[in-house]
Amino acid sequence: MGRRGWKTYVVAMALAIVGYLVLPLGPWSELVWSLVNTLGPVAAIVIAATRLPRNARLPWYLLALGIFANGTAVVPNTIVSEVLKSDTYPTVADAFYLLFYPAVLASIGLMIRRWPPRLIRPAALDAATITSGIGVLAWVYAVAPALQDSDYTAFGEVVRVAYPVGDLLLIFLALILVRSGDHAGPRRSRWGTTPPWLATGLLCFLFGDLIWLLVGDHSVPAWVVRGIDIFYFVAFAILAYAMRHATATDKQRAGALPRPPGIPLMSMLLLALLMAPAVLVMQMSHGAFRHGVAIAAGSTIMSVLVVTRLTVLLRFVERQAEQVRELSRRDELTGLPNRRAWTDELPRVLEQARQSGRPVSVCMMDLDHFKAFNDTRGHQAGDRLLKEAAAAWLSRLRQQDILARYGGEEFIVLLPGTDVLEGCAIMERLRPATPAEQTFSSGVAAWDGTETSEELIARADAALYEAKHTGRDRIVAAATADAVTAR
Ligand code: GH3
Ligand code: MG
Ligand code: MG
Repeated sequence: MGRRGWKTYVVAMALAIVGYLVLPLGPWSELVWSLVNTLGPVAAIVIAATRLPRNARLPWYLLALGIFANGTAVVPNTIVSEVLKSDTYPTVADAFYLLFYPAVLASIGLMIRRWPPRLIRPAALDAATITSGIGVLAWVYAVAPALQDSDYTAFGEVVRVAYPVGDLLLIFLALILVRSGDHAGPRRSRWGTTPPWLATGLLCFLFGDLIWLLVGDHSVPAWVVRGIDIFYFVAFAILAYAMRHATATDKQRAGALPRPPGIPLMSMLLLALLMAPAVLVMQMSHGAFRHGVAIAAGSTIMSVLVVTRLTVLLRFVERQAEQVRELSRRDELTGLPNRRAWTDELPRVLEQARQSGRPVSVCMMDLDHFKAFNDTRGHQAGDRLLKEAAAAWLSRLRQQDILARYGGEEFIVLLPGTDVLEGCAIMERLRPATPAEQTFSSGVAAWDGTETSEELIARADAALYEAKHTGRDRIVAAATADAVTAR
């Protein structure tokens, strides 16, 4: 379905929903109108699914199945109440209503499976924690009372409990969708993806169920029931509309990072954690302490989830810190250690030299007339030369030598176990390796055993200065000030 198709869909569904609310309807015409409100979204999904690649269709068919089953449950329901005049519980209609839950679970489960785990894991843990908090409430105020209700058969009780359990499942799914339905983009562009639409649809459905729960077994006028039905129809319409953005989602998701936990999430997690003690206090204040095991179980589950979440978060932060550290020590262009990394390394190597009594040398290198190279061949060619020169030099150095980009077109080499003459010889080996017939000048200084690292670098730098001023394309040893000229 294209843009126009979706526009038509929205208008048609709005008319169908409003019509259901305002038209005077009898039980049978109401049924027909309900079917329109159900089959509309189902048809939209089925038609739009043909536009998706074959392997991406199943989740949407499952969603359509869930909507179809839940929405057409009125048919057996009306037959049971209007034709058979039966008021047994449960009926075959419950099977239709309940099919919504496993179908939606399977549908969204399949969609989520395609998203990267780094998005899903934290979202699922947060969702599970919040759902557990609500679960404690649901158990104490909805499930346990339903189980104690003596009006029902054992099977009837199971069916009755299946509804709030299914609703908890929907809350869990909606929260995952909300939490993972991000990427760095602005809030508005998130609505160009499926998760917020799916989450809104599920929340709408949950509102309907919540009102049913509050209404309870009280008999209510028909218009109230119809009002509640509206929530389900809007939910169906929105769930189907989510499909409009079905193809865009996966692409955007590939590079997405988990959204950092903000104040709203933290508040929701705190609220969920406080649910168990709050229920406990409520029960104590009423003097009727009945659900100790459920409350303890809820608290335990939530504690485990929160600690797991913390562990996941810490690992994520540690990994990022490691990446930042790595990035901050590497030169982007050449991939060599940068000046910071090299400067950190020097004192360590000097300390080793002090302990072993072996020599260590430092060589400053600077490309000759590199500005002219840039000017004649372009900056990009200059970049390429820097990269290729670094790789070429590196391949002629020994394992223990550390070549770093000192800045611009200046490089520095740390040569452990090497005296000044050997250092000059190594620099000589690098000269013919330099690509594009480029030359460099170098100053070599061997550590005298007492000077600081700054003093050592300063001497190598002075030697380089001398090499430049005596004609470039040469290597100058600092200690003896011997110029080792090439030509
Ligand atoms: P000298 O022989 O005296 O060293 O001459 P030079 O032109 O190499 O020295 P100068 O310090 O005047 O200029 C260095 C040039 O190196 C300037 C700048 O255009 C170039 N340069 C520095 N960093 C980069 C870089 O990352 N990429 C490119 N393409 N050029 C760079
Ligand atoms: Mg230069
Ligand atoms: Mg320079």
